[in-house]
Amino acid sequence: MTSTLDATVTGTHVPPSPARALVCRGCGAEYPLIAQHACYECFGPLEVGYDSAALARVTRAQIEAGPKSIWRYAALLPAGQDPATRVTLDPGLTPLVAAPALAAELGVRGQLWVKDDSANPTHSFKDRVVSAALTAARGLGFSRFACASTGNLANSVAAHAARAGVPSIVFIPGDLEPGKIITTAVYGGDLVAIDGSYDDVNRLCSELVETDEFEDTAFVNVNVRPYYAEGSKTLGYEVAEQLGWRIPEQVVIPMASGELLTKIDKAFSELVEIGLVEAPANGWRVFGAQSAGCNPIADALHRGVEEITPVKPTGIAKSLNIGDPAAGLYALEAVRRTGGWMDYASDDEIRDGIRQLARTTGIFAETAGGVTVAVLRKLVESGKLDPDAETVVYNTGEGLKTLDAVAAQVGPTYRIKPSLRGAKEAGLLR
Ligand SMILES: *Cc1c(COP(=O)(O)O)cnc(C)c1O
Ligand SMILES: [Zn+2]
Repeated sequence: MTSTLDATVTGTHVPPSPARALVCRGCGAEYPLIAQHACYECFGPLEVGYDSAALARVTRAQIEAGPKSIWRYAALLPAGQDPATRVTLDPGLTPLVAAPALAAELGVRGQLWVKDDSANPTHSFKDRVVSAALTAARGLGFSRFACASTGNLANSVAAHAARAGVPSIVFIPGDLEPGKIITTAVYGGDLVAIDGSYDDVNRLCSELVETDEFEDTAFVNVNVRPYYAEGSKTLGYEVAEQLGWRIPEQVVIPMASGELLTKIDKAFSELVEIGLVEAPANGWRVFGAQSAGCNPIADALHRGVEEITPVKPTGIAKSLNIGDPAAGLYALEAVRRTGGWMDYASDDEIRDGIRQLARTTGIFAETAGGVTVAVLRKLVESGKLDPDAETVVYNTGEGLKTLDAVAAQVGPTYRIKPSLRGAKEAGLLR
């Protein structure tokens, strides 16, 4: 694919994309807006760079007048300025839920919020990145959609492809939760289960993308990854807008590749740079959450080292099980720069986190949400997180997809015969 991304269409006036180039995160080399994810000079990952003057023209009023989805931020994204060009389920504007009962249990005195991104169309934050990636991919001329997935991405790519009427082929590790296999396969695209870990799946996809048979195929997190990653920024923009154009002092974010964390931080920086919000007096602090079974980024922070040692993931938080995280170094950088921290939770702590969030907020999270709540607890206990500051915790996925995680621990409180006598015998009546 050599065509460049161009949102220009005829007819009614459509604002141009504010994206300027792909920029290497390693050496700063620049490339046109094509389907490319690594730098030819240093092999560093490429990121979308913007025309700062174009971003600076964006106003709060313009955003507030936009659609009730991520597309209200289209003027801050690389593609999709013209609604007709979007490949999307219109995700976004998910609830920001006050969590006073959770705060009380944890000893948090500042305002505590849960950003509940399980409310997206396929029930995880991945709809944001997939809408961004596939909209760019269609603009670049691709005719088949694909991904390497730990589960939620598979759901979202298959559903987006179904809505757009485009064929899809999704690659997953064979041992994924049944809840994530069914919720992908139902959309009717091809689903390839691979005998191996996510990291094996990802490596295979990087090889497939170079073949003639896959020349027409956009892998959302491989060849169009720079555009994919930008979709995560909307989780930063949205929280700021929902707080009345304010940035919270602390955010706690689950990490797989680490990309989501870096992009929420990037979104806050952009909002300050273009003058849409003021930074909190002491800045914002970014906190990262992993599981004990897959903690390469948090481990590097704890050991105080500059490189990430890949691991072989284990444990129930499968959606976060990336052993060789592509954006790990950038997540480390963001956490160090902002004065945050990272921690990780065991499978038992993850289960407790899921149940505590459900009990105190009415939000049933998947294992990734359990990781984040469990890590929030640890950060409060260790004093790394200021209990008096305002904190937003990101729940990125839905509990119905990972029922097995808590199935052995919850069930009916009573089992009774269908009569008053039965109720009495159980102690429900005197
Ligand atoms: C993919 C995923 C993440 C993390 O994404 P990265 O950007 O790779 O760090 C977090 N939570 C859930 C539920 C996910 O599916
Ligand atoms: Zn480079």
